[in-house]
Amino acid sequence: MDNKLLLAKNSLVANGFKVKIFSNRQEVKEALLKEVGLDESIAFGGSVTLNELGLYDEFKNRGNKIYWHWKADDRRAALDSAVNTDVYMTSTNALTLDGKLVNMDGTGNRVSSMIFGHKRVYVIAGRNKICKDYNEARERIRNVAAPLNAKRLNTNTPCRFTGKCNDCDSPDRMCKAEVVLHKNPTGTEIIIYIVDEDLGY
Ligand code: SF4
Repeated sequence: MDNKLLLAKNSLVANGFKVKIFSNRQEVKEALLKEVGLDESIAFGGSVTLNELGLYDEFKNRGNKIYWHWKADDRRAALDSAVNTDVYMTSTNALTLDGKLVNMDGTGNRVSSMIFGHKRVYVIAGRNKICKDYNEARERIRNVAAPLNAKRLNTNTPCRFTGKCNDCDSPDRMCKAEVVLHKNPTGTEIIIYIVDEDLGY
């Protein structure tokens, strides 16, 4: 296992987060399906990682109440219902070797739910999300994650065409709210599952 995963884990734990490392996506999937009760409601943040894991269908088919605006006919209603569920699941744009979670959002639902409103928040992150520090995390978000998301969403933003950020003024801009979790926020249990595979972007 890459030493980076252990370094990130130790720093995140020192900052109050609960952290586990998994060897692959199947292991993390099994753990999540075991830890979340059938009687718990779940919401998902926008996440290519979660999509790749296929967890939405697994939870839904076994009977959990689950909300994900990516799968809903009424996106707004799903976002509203997602605010107060027992469990929130998402990935993170970056996690750093000094133990921070760094995220950029267009709507803000994902970053606000990471901080407040749920009993437990699971953050599932592939090894590709690990960055040295805040500056590298910001670089990754602006010049790797956002351009790939721009292509996926077909946004009218310069990064979709150039693969680089130019701090745009587009109404489609995805980088409207930047949130850095320096420590685990009071009252929310954030559980970070780092997977020793590339997942999402
Ligand atoms: S600020 Fe604009 S150009 Fe830069 S990454 Fe975000 S959406 Fe793309």
